[in-house]
This record gives sequence, structure tokens and C-alpha cells, in this order.
Amino acid sequence: MTATTCPAAPARLRSLPVLLATEDDAEDMGLLAPDDRLTCHVHGRWIHQCVASPAHVSPVTRHRWCRGCRTELSVAVDELTGTVLMTCPRCGHGGSAATARLTEACRASLAAERDIRHAA
Ligand SMILES: [Zn+2]
Ligand SMILES: [Zn+2]
Repeated sequence: MTATTCPAAPARLRSLPVLLATEDDAEDMGLLAPDDRLTCHVHGRWIHQCVASPAHVSPVTRHRWCRGCRTELSVAVDELTGTVLMTCPRCGHGGSAATARLTEACRASLAAERDIRHAA
């Protein structure tokens, strides 16, 4: 299968350090919401690689947090299928708008990392 370049996806095919710096700038300029970043400026990694860290849990915004159980959601990242799941270990749910957005960002970062690996 040959790789096709898609001009509508500017985040694709940039190395991690380049994309990190680009997203830092875009966020500073108000062009990118922190929730939509594919990279993590705290850990310097792809978001799907460090989202399981406690630093990505926020009871206030409900990122990776089950309000009903007051519990961190566990993260399952399947790099082969590109699946990202965040569920509460107690009730099996725990979803929120913030968590759904974080999950989407993880899926996108997984896909971007995979594209770069294939293009290299
Ligand atoms: Zn991180
Ligand atoms: Zn729960």
C-alpha cells in the first residue's frame, strides 16, 4: 500500500519534536485548544503515550475522572487497532465530555504516530 499525502491533515507526517513545538505555539496563540493537542507538553510525548499518567487526571474538568465514583478512569490503548478506551474501574462507565475529547485526541495521536512510522 502506498502512502497518500493529504493536504487537509497538516498535523500529519511531522516528527514528535516538531509537532510538539508547533502545538505549543498554536496553543499560545489561541489557535489550538489544549484538549485537541496530539502531543503533551508536560511529558514531551504523544498524548496516547502518557495519558495514563496521573497528571492527566482532573476531577475539576473531569478529564479521566468518574464523578460518581470519585475514581480515576483506567486507560487501555491498543496500538494495533488504534483503539483507546477510558473506563471507570468501579462502575465501568465514568464518561464525560472532557474524557470523550481526550479519547479523540489519543486516537488522533496514535494515527499520527503510526503515519510517521510508516513514512520513515
Ligand atoms: Zn502527558
Ligand atoms: Zn465510576
